[in-house]
Amino acid sequence: MLIAAHTLGCKLNFAETSAIVRRFTDAGHTLVDFHERADLYIVNTCTVTAVAEKKCRNAIRQAVAQNPLATVAVVGCFAQNAADQILSIPGVKIVLGNDKKHLLYEILTSDGSQFLPIVDEPRSFKPLFSTGDRTRVFFKIQDGCDYFCTYCAIPFARGRSRSASIDETLAVARQIAETGAKEVVLTGVNTGTFGQHNNERLIDLLRRLDEVEGILRYRISSIEPNLLTNEVVDFVASSRAFLPHFHIPLQAGSDHVLAMMHRRYTTADFAEKLAYVRSKMPEACIAADIMAGFNGESEEEFDKVCRYVEELPISYLHVFTYSERPNTAALKLGEKVPMATRRAHSQILHTISERKRAAFVASQIGTERPVLWESTRHGDTMQGWTDNYIRLCQPYNPLAVNTITTVKLSPANVVEQHTDEA
Ligand code: SF4
Repeated sequence: MLIAAHTLGCKLNFAETSAIVRRFTDAGHTLVDFHERADLYIVNTCTVTAVAEKKCRNAIRQAVAQNPLATVAVVGCFAQNAADQILSIPGVKIVLGNDKKHLLYEILTSDGSQFLPIVDEPRSFKPLFSTGDRTRVFFKIQDGCDYFCTYCAIPFARGRSRSASIDETLAVARQIAETGAKEVVLTGVNTGTFGQHNNERLIDLLRRLDEVEGILRYRISSIEPNLLTNEVVDFVASSRAFLPHFHIPLQAGSDHVLAMMHRRYTTADFAEKLAYVRSKMPEACIAADIMAGFNGESEEEFDKVCRYVEELPISYLHVFTYSERPNTAALKLGEKVPMATRRAHSQILHTISERKRAAFVASQIGTERPVLWESTRHGDTMQGWTDNYIRLCQPYNPLAVNTITTVKLSPANVVEQHTDEA
């Protein structure tokens, strides 16, 4: 069979799609580009916003249009939360939620499951990792979330927080090292809760991972501010392989809105946390998620948000426009913000993000940073990331792929990056 896969959403989804596809390629099937004609299309979906769901529907329709006779399998978070809706899209043959999506190969090669949505409550957990670009691997170390922030449908789609033991996770890390990948991105839904149900701690996992031979770099893809302890920050600052790069969800720059969201920190806590990170790693890249237009975000509140964010020592923002998610508590909370205002607020936050990013990059010009070079060719150049997450380019050199070299940053070698709508 020819297999094509498309992934929406987070790095966790990328790791999972890669593991699903690997079951097929290990059995002798061939992976082709999603834009090509295939016998099986896999769409791994996201439900974080209405925009994400729209992108999922578009990807599904694209797959059906490319080959109406193909098997189209829709899996993941949107599939979990809206199975019947997806199954009603003409051409969709299989719908698997998060608990069973890793069994797609087994389900397809057995009888009788087609046309049946399988959306059991997600309970299983297996550490897994992406393959493909041999330089960098996304490593799923945790799944699910117990926080139930009032705007978020992810706990319904992903189930409760769970992870494997430190020893089991390390065994998979050693397999990753054997693939030759130099950089590992630790991913999860609420990564900071790793081990909490096994009486283990994330910090102890990080210490053990740092000792795995062959892996030269780690990034923590995202960590809640209340779980990014000073102990974790101190460890990253002094570790062998953990990089000065943090992604910390802020979500709102107003205490009133944070309280309505049931977030577990105040704007003062968040600012204090960032100041601590900066004091330990002045060169660190610090990204923050922020949501525009959540209930109760009046113009006056939004002005405060902008002033607060402008003052934060962040490197850029991931901007989300709030959209109502089914079954969430926020549906009954506070005053709704008109969609046009949400979009206008989002645009302003994008502009702030671009300014922040430009300032961060400018602060690093003239410094020398280690860069891991990737395999993809961009015309006559190749690209790679610095430790503090700035994209650089240099003339293409196949011998440089998957090596780390120290490069002086200049306006000529920085690749421009932009803030996407999530
Ligand atoms: S921490 Fe909040 S925003 Fe993040 S997945 Fe859990 S409920 Fe959703």
